[in-house]
Order: sequence, then C-alpha cells, then structure tokens
Amino acid sequence: MADLQKAEIVGTPALDGQYIGEMDIWPFEAPEFNRIYPFYDNLRAGKFTTTKCKKCGYIMFPPQVICPKCWSDELEWVELPKRAKVVTLTETQAGAPLGFESPLILAWLTFGDKGPLKHLLGRIIHCKEGELKEGDEVKFVTFSVPSHPFEVKKETKVSDRVFYAFEPVK
Ligand SMILES: [Zn+2]
Repeated sequence: MADLQKAEIVGTPALDGQYIGEMDIWPFEAPEFNRIYPFYDNLRAGKFTTTKCKKCGYIMFPPQVICPKCWSDELEWVELPKRAKVVTLTETQAGAPLGFESPLILAWLTFGDKGPLKHLLGRIIHCKEGELKEGDEVKFVTFSVPSHPFEVKKETKVSDRVFYAFEPVK
C-alpha cells in the first residue's frame, strides 16, 4: 500500500544479546496470544483501526474485546483518521525508558469535534526536540519492531511485528 510508511527499526533489540526476551516492550501480535491481533494485521496493511461496539455504538481506543460502556462483546473494526492535531505535548529530553530514544515525545491529540474519538495519546517520531507545537498537525505512521521467536504447540514461530506512531506534517 502506497501510504504505508515504514520507518527505521526502533525498540528493544531483544535478539542482539543485549536484553532478554522478557524485557520485550512490544505486544505479541499473533492470534495465538492476542485477541486484538486484527489491529496489527491492519497496521501491517497501513490501516489505523479500532473497535466499535455494535450494541451501543461506542468507539474505544486502544481496541478491546469487550465494550467498556455496556459490556457487550459484539464489536466491529472501524478505521480511524490518519491525521490529528496536537492539543498538548510532553518531551522527555533525557532518561527515556528502555527501548525508547530521547527525545521521547508524547502528545495529546484530537481528531476534531466530529472525530470518532474525543482524544488520543500518541507517540511522535521523526521530530526534533522543540519542533512540535500545540495546534500542529501530525500524521499516522507505522514502523517495524524487532521480533523474536515464540513457541506455539511445540512449534517455533517468528512473526513480523509493527507498531504505530505519529509524525509532524511538514
Ligand atoms: Zn457498548
């Protein structure tokens, strides 16, 4: 897909002998381990999605398997907008947690008054310290995450992993 933007690999290099697999900060994205795995399949296809309750219509993020408003498990996948505006942000300039580089920028985002979600907390990448301001527009981007083998019914599997963030619209 043309709009799938793959950035450089970021995250804990679990297989480089530097860290043990248990310190992996990224979710298992395989159906054997994760009931919201379609979210990751959609990310791999360049789509930003979440779950919507078929009973009450509530749209939740991150995606879930039970509606937090009415407890229904009848949910459907819906696409989210790929552009958002920064309401406010925080920059960790030094001492970012393991697996993240400084500056670690987190922003409180809005899709606007008519957006499917009121707000969304998003990580901002490809952005220098001090570059992003309140009111700026950011866009959805995916990036590869290091993978490591896991065992399913005595079979060893390695799945491609992907995660999402936002980057400034220039
Ligand atoms: Zn509901």
